Amino acid sequence: MTTNEWTDSKAALRLLTHQKAIWPLLKQNYAAYEQIAVKYLIAGKKCIAVQHNPARITSVTTDLEKRKAPSGCLICMDNLPAEQEVLPMGENMLLLCNPYPIFPQHFTIASRRHIAQSLSVSFLDLLHTAKSLSDYTIIYNAPESGASLPDHLHFQAITSSLMPIENESCEYSGRVIEEKGRAFLHTLIQANRSGFIIESTDATDALHLYYRLREALTSAQNTFVEPKMNVFCKYIPKQGWLIIFIPRKVHRPSFFYAEGEEKILVSPGAADIGGIIITPRKEDFDKISAEHVETIFNEICYDENEVLMICGKYFPC
Ligand SMILES: [Zn+2]
Repeated sequence: MTTNEWTDSKAALRLLTHQKAIWPLLKQNYAAYEQIAVKYLIAGKKCIAVQHNPARITSVTTDLEKRKAPSGCLICMDNLPAEQEVLPMGENMLLLCNPYPIFPQHFTIASRRHIAQSLSVSFLDLLHTAKSLSDYTIIYNAPESGASLPDHLHFQAITSSLMPIENESCEYSGRVIEEKGRAFLHTLIQANRSGFIIESTDATDALHLYYRLREALTSAQNTFVEPKMNVFCKYIPKQGWLIIFIPRKVHRPSFFYAEGEEKILVSPGAADIGGIIITPRKEDFDKISAEHVETIFNEICYDENEVLMICGKYFPC
């Protein structure tokens, strides 16, 4: 395999078509995905989709305290199913079809090496992946922010424009709080999922602003590890990169830990924060209401005032 080759959207789609033909599990799960129930709620004046997806039970309930040893890692090359094929995504990453889809087309972009989830070591790979796969949106879950395999660095490439946040981000883009060369850092102001956006036509300038944002979020979250956040990256030809950062206060909402009737098994990652809530259990799908969704977002995300406080403290005018 040529190590510095980048797979484009057409080649990725060809791989998915081929994998559906030769990999029974993937074919079966895509067929099941086409039949899943979806309902829509209005929460915080936003349309939210709720998806009943039983195949996601394992990733939603992953116990991060008992994660698998490297020998059992699901996306290490040595452990891939015999049917799984990979394509190169530059020197560092590989493209794989995700056999448990939550989107009509769903890929995993996994590090070639078993290294921990970290955007700081992979930010440029994220940008170049988005540019190569410009028909897709690339998402990233920081540790304790919905990543079910936090021990192995990975992104996901998903069908674009299905998550409401992708369309809302333009509408709610706030003021520029920092700029560097051809890159601009904005606030993203929404009722209960506020955050930040980097727009750039230059990868190095975007990286510079990412480091500034990471520094601010690390201090704001009082952590020594990567700040909790979900990231959405899209490359628009002739316009450049749009990267949305939604910082997180906690990993999981209180409903996840509740017992009995109060329990709702949701463990939000980027898709959920983007406006597509995944419920593996039918009882949770039936029960979850707009009020539940608002409570979940209020517990785990920052509101407008909290983002403006970060701006005031770390990005003074
Ligand atoms: Zn691994």
